[in-house]
Amino acid sequence: MTQATDYIAQVAADLAKRDPNQPEFQEAVSNFLGTITPVFEKHPEYIKANVLGRLTEPERAISFQVPWQDDEGNLRINRGFRVQFNSAIGPYKGGLRFHPSVNLSIIKFLGFEQIFKNSLTGLPIGGGKGGSDFTSKGKSDAEIMRFCQSFMIELQRHIGLDIDVPAGDIGVGGREIGYLYGMYKRLRGAERGILTGKGLSFGGSLARTEATGYGLLYYTQAMLKENDKDITGKRIVISGAGNVAIYATEKAEQMGAKVLTVSDSNGYVYDENGIDVAVLKDVKEVRRARLTEYAKAVPSAQYHEGSVWDADLKYDIALPCATQNEINGDQAAKFKAAGVFAIAEGANMPSNPEAIASYKANGILYGPAKAANAGGVAVSALEMGQDSRRMADSFDTVDGQLKEIMENLFANSVAAAKEYGVAGDYLAGSNIAGFVKVADAMTAQGW
Ligand code: NDP
Repeated sequence: MTQATDYIAQVAADLAKRDPNQPEFQEAVSNFLGTITPVFEKHPEYIKANVLGRLTEPERAISFQVPWQDDEGNLRINRGFRVQFNSAIGPYKGGLRFHPSVNLSIIKFLGFEQIFKNSLTGLPIGGGKGGSDFTSKGKSDAEIMRFCQSFMIELQRHIGLDIDVPAGDIGVGGREIGYLYGMYKRLRGAERGILTGKGLSFGGSLARTEATGYGLLYYTQAMLKENDKDITGKRIVISGAGNVAIYATEKAEQMGAKVLTVSDSNGYVYDENGIDVAVLKDVKEVRRARLTEYAKAVPSAQYHEGSVWDADLKYDIALPCATQNEINGDQAAKFKAAGVFAIAEGANMPSNPEAIASYKANGILYGPAKAANAGGVAVSALEMGQDSRRMADSFDTVDGQLKEIMENLFANSVAAAKEYGVAGDYLAGSNIAGFVKVADAMTAQGW
């Protein structure tokens, strides 16, 4: 045991004792700690500053009550969260998730990942995340608005232009951001930069809606290029049918690949002709309907219940864009035989630890979430810049910046992996590149 391995083992043991009932948070930290030893071998000063102890405890974790009235007049109560994880390199930045599964463990795992993701973008933003166990599914627009208004009545006291700037995530799209911003404005005035993912008529950025999905494909293309491969003509399986999945599908098809599937929490559609993104947008964005409606609208599509990762398909590239731990070790073990040579994560932590081990064992190129899906937060930071300049950049300008950011962050991860003796390991490279910048900022600022 070296001083570095001792230290990392101690941090892991302390965390297991302190947060034993937070499995997603433990998983995210453990994935990270498993790759970071070379940095501590080289930088014992980070041990002295107990950087990991400070990074595994949020600077602030807020939990609050969200009362709202449904259309029948009943008073309903949900739980709201905002975890302000680390502000070493800038104001806290990270999305809000509205989903029944949301709890402190999930928000902390997302906030922890966000620290390094935001650092990797090269932009001055710290890490945070928030949300609620509320779901918009099955609610009227008026109910969603009342919920968002009540959520913001509490959240507004914790956020600020140079303090914390939330955005969307699962269950929080343009509609919810609009209602949240409307309430913020009534309470505190028109500070456009307070939220990102806003509508284009009130301070939103062109290409923010597309950013995570497009960025995922720019990252995938860079990873393939590094390995002398190309995306044109490749067969791709995508999971999810939300914001990330839709725009990943669109960009993949623009790049000349064929997307065979999209999915939701009930099942998936498979279309050998390639997913028709115009129909997908109509079903999910306009009609807010289920994927069964896509299958009704497209004769060549088949709808199947269950996970797309259990489907028996031949393909080249996997792009999980739904949710955490959607791919387990058994499902990942089938990738090689299916023909998969690369996976890049649009969702946060979609691969469980056994799945990640399987990619490594089978030589599958692996682009981890904190790098591959950083395009969303990157364009959110560009939106903050546009808001403070009171200017709106063109789609092509923002899309060009996004592409450059994704290519740079991939290159930086490759370089960090090489520098620390783990060449070709993009998970370790992303963790290291993201971490070193934050650790330097933390040690420079003292405690
Ligand atoms: P959306 O709410 O737009 O869509 C989520 C999609 O995933 C839906 O199709 C949903 O299906 C499916 N899904 C959600 N939970 C589950 C589940 N438990 N099992 C199976 N399917 C599920 O969210 P986004 O597209 O914005 O987010 C998707 C992922 O991408 C998340 O992990 C998010 O954290 C990540 N991400 C998003 C960013 C963004 O900019 N939006 C940025 C970076 C990462 P159903 O309708 O049935 O619930």
